[in-house]
Parts: sequence; structure tokens; C-alpha cells
Amino acid sequence: MGLVVQKYGGSSVADAEGIKRVAKRIVEAKQNGNQVVAVVSAMGDTTDELIDLAEQVSPMPAGRELDMLLTAGERISMALLAMAIKKLGHEAQSFTGSQAGVITDSVHNKARIIDVTPGRIKTSVDEGNIAIVAGFQGVSQDTKDITTLGRGGSDTTAVALAAALDADVCEIYTDVDGVFTADPRVVKKARKIDWISFEDMLELAASGSKVLLHRCVEYARRYNIPIHVRSSFSGLQGTWVSSEPIKQGDKQVEQALISGVAHDTSEAKVTVVGVPDKPGEAASIFRTIADAEINIDMVVQNVSAASTGLTDISFTLPKTEGRKAIDALEKNKAGIGFDSLRYDDQIGKISLVGAGMKTNPGVTADFFTALSDAGVNIELISTSEIRISVVTRADDVPEAVRAVHSAFGLDSDSDEAVVYGGTGR
Ligand code: ASP
Ligand code: MG
Repeated sequence: MGLVVQKYGGSSVADAEGIKRVAKRIVEAKQNGNQVVAVVSAMGDTTDELIDLAEQVSPMPAGRELDMLLTAGERISMALLAMAIKKLGHEAQSFTGSQAGVITDSVHNKARIIDVTPGRIKTSVDEGNIAIVAGFQGVSQDTKDITTLGRGGSDTTAVALAAALDADVCEIYTDVDGVFTADPRVVKKARKIDWISFEDMLELAASGSKVLLHRCVEYARRYNIPIHVRSSFSGLQGTWVSSEPIKQGDKQVEQALISGVAHDTSEAKVTVVGVPDKPGEAASIFRTIADAEINIDMVVQNVSAASTGLTDISFTLPKTEGRKAIDALEKNKAGIGFDSLRYDDQIGKISLVGAGMKTNPGVTADFFTALSDAGVNIELISTSEIRISVVTRADDVPEAVRAVHSAFGLDSDSDEAVVYGGTGR
């Protein structure tokens, strides 16, 4: 008998019907002879609605209280799901993150899991129950306060529980059939990936792909937990994310040259104009940003104009941190010594990801050719061993993603990708 951890996202349990459908799936897994632990997200857009509500009461709600509020979302779905399973004649018990032993640090709204002690879950499934666990939440080791893991954190809960319970597999059920070669909401001809390595998946997640969160994949890689991403709306095989290629029948799935194209329109660009071209300038700009606890993404320094000895430095960061970055730089303007700041939030990032590019010359050239054929202008470029990213105008993103996807032969010639639910909010 195996132990399966399944995770169901908000769109899979959006209403009573969804909860009943998911309950049936969970029961099937149990009837197939497995012990089952199911991790759930809040129903539909509940988390967004709770955040809206909090902001109406206070524009900057206290982190501790916001966490208390948000964890209620997952409590609703876990209890309803347990009820629906009992209605089907099977035993189920629901548990909060804290009851399930999800221990975190004390950083509210984006806590990190530091330990999982799933004693109660283990006992519950050993007694024949299906255990339902509220995703996205835990309890701080130091303060004993309730914490949340950051948006989309239920995936991480599932992988962490799978690791702690030594599960055979962690199944992540979502509203698409798996991981696609591009966002199927943008590229109708996106193709489902059968297998992808942890490395490529990490790059895709870091580049804006939303199927799996970076933290969740990082966790899975560290504990070598294979993830099966699949739809709760269909019975299809999804995408396996693991360290070694899987077998299909007796055929080994090959490592693809290019895994996919990701895009991200959640970032903005800051340009520091008129920076003296001398040692220490970049250091003081980015020290200022780091002291404000802002994570940056790409950095580009222009060639300085010989006549003035001044240069421009641009970097990208999450739009949500834009105001903070500008304020911090303005405050240090005299210390750093620059002319002015420019802020642009109408940008988008397109990334091509694939371990195959390490050994295949010409990928970069083909990428830029595809963009130029689509008439897309490039503003910034950055690369890693297995990724090329460019920044363009936000408006150009959908066209650019489609162009690159076609150019690398990723378009499927059969079924169009299905998006079963979710508002993408
Ligand atoms: N309900 C939380 C969110 O919407 C956690 C999750 O869905 O994974 O971010
Ligand atoms: Mg959600």
C-alpha cells in the first residue's frame, strides 16, 4: 500500500459541486489501496476576497491578524471536503496546518517551513481515515502564532508533508492538464510536457510560470519528491516533475532541448540616470535597495558616455516593491550621486528555458530572430546556463510568447490546451 499526498487548488474546490467532485477523486485514490492525505486551498477567490476585506478595514493590516484571517479560507474548504467524503461513506478528518505539524519561522505573510512533524496525520491515516490538511498555513516555532506561507503556498504544504510522511508521490491537482510549454491562456497551441526536470521547472517558475511555485519545486528537489501535476477536471496523465526522466510504457521520455517559454508582467523597471562611472556606485545603489529588503531581478548598466563620464543603471523588480525602491533611492540621492530616476511599469519579461541550450549553439540567435520577426523590440537581456530572458513592452508579450513558441517548434499540432477553471486572478 502506498501513501499519496494530493493537493487541490482553489479553482478545483470553487463551489459545493467542486468539493463533491474532489471528494470523489480522493475516495477513488483511497479505493485504489492508498493511504491518502489531501491538502486543500481556499475555495475559488476566497483569499483575494479576504485580503480586499482586510484592506477595507485597514489599508496596512497587521501581518499577524492578516494571517489569522487568511487561514480561515483553507479551514472552510478542509471542513467541507471532510464532510463530503464522509457523505460518500468514508472516514475523513480535517486538520489545520498547525495541527498537521507544519512549523514555520515567524515571518508573517511569507513564512518558511522549517520543520514538519506530522504525527497526528500519520495516526489518522493509520487508523484508516483520509486526512484533509489546510494548505498555505503553519505555526511559528518561536511565537506560536499562526502564519501563512505566501500566495500559492498550498503547493509547498503538500510537498513538505509528502517529504515528512515519506510519500510515494505528491499529486498537485489544478485547473490545467499539467505543465505546458507556455501559459495555455496565452498560447492556444501550448503542449503538455510529460516530464520535466526539477532544474528546468525551477527556471520556469522563477521566470513567471504560475503552475508551480518556485519554493515548492525547490522543496521537492531538496527532498527528491516526484511531483505529478494534473487536472482535477479530467482523468488524464499530467506532467511529472522529478530528477530522472520517467518511462511511458517501456519508452524512456527524452529530455527536451527546450522545455518552454515563460512570461511575467508583474515586474517594473527602474532606471537610475546619470550615475558617475566609478567604482562603488553600483554597490551603493544596490545596497540601498537591499536595505529596503527588496529583491531585484535583472540588472543592466549602459556604456557610459565618454564626454560626461556618466552612465545609466537599470534593474527590474516586482511592481509591488516599486514605490519602496524609488523612495529609498530618492532618500539616498545625495549619497549615491545620480541625476534622476525613471520608473516604468509597462514592461514584460519573456524567457526561454531548457537544459539543452547548454550544448546547442544557435538557440540565442533563433530566439532573437523570432522576436525581431514578430517586430518586438528588446529592452534588457539576461541569461543563465539554461535560460534566456528579455524585457519588452508589456503589450508585446502575448505576441512575443507565441512567436518564440512557434519558432522553437513547440506548437502542438493536435489538441488545443484546455483551461478548465480559475479566473487567473
Ligand atoms: N489560498 C492561498 C492563495 O490563494 C494559497 C493557495 O491557493 O495555495 O494564495
Ligand atoms: Mg488560491
